[in-house]
Amino acid sequence: MATIVGAIATSHTPTIGFAADRKLQNDPVWAPIFQAYEPIKAWLAERRPDVLFVIYNDHITSFFFDHYSAFTLGVDERYEPADEGGEPRALKPLVGRADLARHVGVSLMSEEFDMSFFRDKPLDHGCFSPLSMLADPEQPWPWSIVPLQVGVLQFPIPTAHRCFSLGKAIRRAIESFPEDIKVAIVATGGLSHQVHGERAGFNNPEWDQTFLDLFETDPDRLAAMTHAQYARLGGFEGSEVIMWLIMRGALAPKVKRLHRTYYLPSMTAIATAIYEDDLAEPETAPIFVDKQTEGLADLEGTYPFTLDRANKAYALNRFLRSLVDPKVRARFAAEPEAAMVDAGLSEHERRMVAARDWRALIQYGAIFFVLEKLAAVSGVPNIAVYAAMRGQSVEDFQKTRSAAMTYGVGR
Ligand code: FE
Repeated sequence: MATIVGAIATSHTPTIGFAADRKLQNDPVWAPIFQAYEPIKAWLAERRPDVLFVIYNDHITSFFFDHYSAFTLGVDERYEPADEGGEPRALKPLVGRADLARHVGVSLMSEEFDMSFFRDKPLDHGCFSPLSMLADPEQPWPWSIVPLQVGVLQFPIPTAHRCFSLGKAIRRAIESFPEDIKVAIVATGGLSHQVHGERAGFNNPEWDQTFLDLFETDPDRLAAMTHAQYARLGGFEGSEVIMWLIMRGALAPKVKRLHRTYYLPSMTAIATAIYEDDLAEPETAPIFVDKQTEGLADLEGTYPFTLDRANKAYALNRFLRSLVDPKVRARFAAEPEAAMVDAGLSEHERRMVAARDWRALIQYGAIFFVLEKLAAVSGVPNIAVYAAMRGQSVEDFQKTRSAAMTYGVGR
């Protein structure tokens, strides 16, 4: 079973990445930032986690208000550094531990945390800034990651209490993952800062110290605070520290603090810390059974569209979904094979699409609602797709309905 070896807390200011890229460790202004990460590097070298579960927020780089969600789990296998306006940082992409992410996602949903899931998105400084301090950029990353993006920028945002509860569920989710791997939780963000309005430049070192104390000893008090209280005490953007409570929830009620630093060189108070569970006795790992889907596999002719299927057939579904774009439709009509090759479809996938083999496509992992689009593009009515999936002629299938109706989602 997977084990949580401990947790790291770290600010995620762009300045941290800036310092790492320019190797400013010998500059007295920047040196304390590097020094803050040395004990964390040593702890990681000793504990050797396989996976970092990184809690961060995107800064309107990869996530926008066209679809903004509270808790978004990355289920991808690879994460590029994002371009935030001045070219992406020259860092290797992070490897995503997608099987663990999917397991955590299923477990959290079964506990009624309504997660969303992302892939195909680069990660911004919220994730890469601190991680780039913890590994040699010349070497492959020493761990894979599961990123959890928290939507803290468009109100309403999750309550501190909800973050804390989510962390407790994440602990159960990770510990029920059947593989023997070691996971460290990384919480990013904060501490006190405000970057907008006439109050820009607000900090509160005294509150930051109180926050760090309560974080260890009385997280329930922090979980009971409102967003307005966080904003008043720690600056409006400083409220992102509620993300730390997710990490705190994933630790035991009692923790040991192994490291803690605080530095305020510019706009944001930079803090780092390491925590481990302080348990009297080791706990037994929980066992997770997905009750919601128990028995689904016995339904014949039924292919539940799960994160596993979405992952397997991602390129295929993405391409067929892109047929909602008139430009893609025109290209697909003119040169279907080239359009599909460019979209990254495998030969097997291209053959199924070219043959309009509706049953094979569904069995493979296409979701019906992209087949509907392919049917519309192909001038095939929906009923022909249903009949083909059943292995019947349209006429025979129509006999099972009260009328012989024909339609499609196209015009
Ligand atoms: Fe931030």
